[in-house]
Amino acid sequence: MSEVEILHLPTDVDVPSLWSTAAARAAAWLRGRALPARDATLLLPFAALVPVARETFAAEPGFGGWPPRIETPLTLAAALGPPPEAAPGRVSGEPLVDRLAATARVRRLLGATGLDEGAVVPGELPWLTAQFVDAAQRLRAAALALAPARRAGWWAAAAARTAAAAAGPAQLEARLLSEAVNWCAEGVAGATDRLFRHRPAAWIVVEMGGADALVAGLLDAAAAAGVPALRLVADPPSAAPFAATACPARVRRWIAEDAEDEARAAAAAVVDALAAERTPVALVALDRALVRRTRALLERAGVPLHDETGWQLSTTRAAAELRALLRAARAGSGGDAWLDWLATWPRAEPAARASLEALWRGSRRVRDAAAATRLARAAGAHLAPLAEPGRRSLNAWLQRLAGRLQADGSAERLRSDAAGAQVLAALRLDGAGPGWGPAADALHLDLAEFDAWLAAALEARTFVPPADAGAVVVVTPLARAIGRPFGAVVLPGADHRHLGDAAPAASLVGDALAAELGVPTRGEARLRQRLALAQLMRVPALTLLRRLQDEGEGFDDSPDLQWLLLERARAGLPAWPDEPAPLPRRLMPAAPVAPPRPSASAALPHTLSATQVEALRDCPYRFFARAVLRLEEPAELEQALAKRDYGEWLHLVLQHFHAGRAAAEAAAPHEAAAPPPDDAARLQQAAEHATRELRLDAAELLPFRASFEAFAPAYLRWLARHEAAGWHWLGGETEHRFAAAALAPTTLRGRLDRIDQGPGGTRRVIDYKTGSKRALERKVKEPLEDTQLAFYAALLGDATPLEACYLALDERDAPIEIAHPAVQRSAAALVAGLGDELRRLRAGAAMLALGEGEVCLHCEMRGLCRRDHWRPPAQQAAEAAPGHAA
Ligand code: SF4
Repeated sequence: MSEVEILHLPTDVDVPSLWSTAAARAAAWLRGRALPARDATLLLPFAALVPVARETFAAEPGFGGWPPRIETPLTLAAALGPPPEAAPGRVSGEPLVDRLAATARVRRLLGATGLDEGAVVPGELPWLTAQFVDAAQRLRAAALALAPARRAGWWAAAAARTAAAAAGPAQLEARLLSEAVNWCAEGVAGATDRLFRHRPAAWIVVEMGGADALVAGLLDAAAAAGVPALRLVADPPSAAPFAATACPARVRRWIAEDAEDEARAAAAAVVDALAAERTPVALVALDRALVRRTRALLERAGVPLHDETGWQLSTTRAAAELRALLRAARAGSGGDAWLDWLATWPRAEPAARASLEALWRGSRRVRDAAAATRLARAAGAHLAPLAEPGRRSLNAWLQRLAGRLQADGSAERLRSDAAGAQVLAALRLDGAGPGWGPAADALHLDLAEFDAWLAAALEARTFVPPADAGAVVVVTPLARAIGRPFGAVVLPGADHRHLGDAAPAASLVGDALAAELGVPTRGEARLRQRLALAQLMRVPALTLLRRLQDEGEGFDDSPDLQWLLLERARAGLPAWPDEPAPLPRRLMPAAPVAPPRPSASAALPHTLSATQVEALRDCPYRFFARAVLRLEEPAELEQALAKRDYGEWLHLVLQHFHAGRAAAEAAAPHEAAAPPPDDAARLQQAAEHATRELRLDAAELLPFRASFEAFAPAYLRWLARHEAAGWHWLGGETEHRFAAAALAPTTLRGRLDRIDQGPGGTRRVIDYKTGSKRALERKVKEPLEDTQLAFYAALLGDATPLEACYLALDERDAPIEIAHPAVQRSAAALVAGLGDELRRLRAGAAMLALGEGEVCLHCEMRGLCRRDHWRPPAQQAAEAAPGHAA
């Protein structure tokens, strides 16, 4: 039995001096005990320190060219042999494997506590399972830090402690924790267990950024076995971490306005360090989102990077491809999900895909309908093995997925891509790993659950991109930025959020219990962060950044940084004042554009609809975009039933009702004074008919059906009054064309909702509307301004007396008639005005973008005409003045 000896390394020296001092003290310690240095093992906290330590120890004369073996616990464990395989069902440390076994255990526990899955809030089972796995893995890691011989006693104590809590008043979380202890106590094994059997001449560990539980356990076991052990502590005392830190020669504290400015400033600081040849440069990833943005800015500037942090595998394109495949295969996935997947499917020709999309969106122009149909058929056949309904084991799903990826060549493509290869490996589809074992046979899922499992699997993994060639900028976490010979460090996120107390994460192992059991606590994590900041002071140049606010929330300085500044002030050292981040700014001259003035004399359409004529009257450029360029907004393929759909449905209901009623009357005429007795039933039948014809989901239509139930009797009452006044339905949904010398060669065409006939043979055009009554009243207030009814009146010619009205169907007191007075006069004015306008356009007049009034507010062409980027009206007027030089 011997003692673990401790030597403190200086806290106020730079990185090279730290390592040379560590080498000299280790050499002296070994020499003093006549221990052969080459048979000693030196452990470092993480692998990135190995090169600098090996180089420095090799140069230390005290070793005579035979320095100790230098490793980390993990590299040494890997060198001592392959990792042990966890027995099936035991806690393995691999989150996804453990999750499979944990799901069954959590279900069993819920059953045993009388809480079946149905009693748990939907979505809570996966959360409980994740918490259960997290607790088991934290407990496992704490146990693996102990010598194997001590573990049985530790588990017994942990079991007693957690069983007592679980016996309390039915606390589900406490029972889960107790079950997690029982699970781990069945046996845990890790690759690092071999370290406890390793017998070097001496153990030396360098402690930096906080103590490591495994290393402490190893040294205790070594000392108990009589193996000499030395701790070289590079950290300052935890009670005074900043009392005697080193001081970078150059420190800057930059304050940015917001996250975007902070990312730009961080990128500028990196570029600045490169320009000053302070390399390598560390970009510290305290705030992952911000560093990802900084990384993107550096990539855009062509700076090669080595990213040691990576990002979730689920956010890579390869992962998105797999998720798109599964989503497309889900029953009722719909067109958008298919199109998303087809965009990545190697067998989908872009032209065929575009045709299929056009077909599904109901576009008038489908380039190759046959190719679209072939593609849809081939895609359906490819998805079929995944789309086949039923629950199957996880292994069976993975085999089907692998089969699909093989069948279309996706597997090969994914293997050749860095992220794709990691996705295949994470799902164990690359054939290299051990597979998922019996637990994956026992877990049965439907396709949606398999998709959720796959998403979780890819979220749990980090994609680490390969380093760019010649990269001297390293993106690294704070804990890995210390003790390395960086020429400069850029640390964005030096604020109270990211370099301070983080919000506690939910865990079954609370802090008090963690402290009792020797599981790492939040307080220890904070201490590590503080010690890492103190270690960072050894670098020659440091830029600390923070933002003033983020989405309205104020950001303060990091409390650790405040502490450091206070210590500096106490020591009489110069302050590090903060300053606005010197962002590169460029003055851009304003470049407003002139409103467009296209002319298309030869390309005007031969026939015009009411909406096209309305567009021409509102804004000629809108007409140009719609009628000449034939641009249209793509319709969403999937959308909850909208008011527009209700309007379409109601039009069809009334059409079926009146057509059916007219047919019945023709077959058996009734007394003109009395309404047919079965109108209410006929209206309901028409509603069912329209629902079927439009293939509407009855459940989705339900809220609209409620309005319809109120509308139907009101409509029949209105109809009775209308018919009592001598009107009757003449026809609906009728197509009409109109040609006139004033318009030639252009003709007008349109479809009328309804035409009624009344006293004296007068006809009445009725246009059904589900919009607001007020808007309709505004329309007809200036009859010459209302295009639609005037256009319909023009379609019918002027031979018979004609009336026209809108019939508002969706108001509280609907139906409401809003008449267009003297509509035939409006129609004649419309035809004359339209004729003049068309003649001007045919002669080459410009189709001006008017940019006026309400029409611009909802105009779908606003981006095209660049309405928001025009020159001020005064400048336009000056340019339009005679004599202005273009
Ligand atoms: S936004 Fe206004 S100016 Fe531009 S096309 Fe539409 S209506 Fe015309």
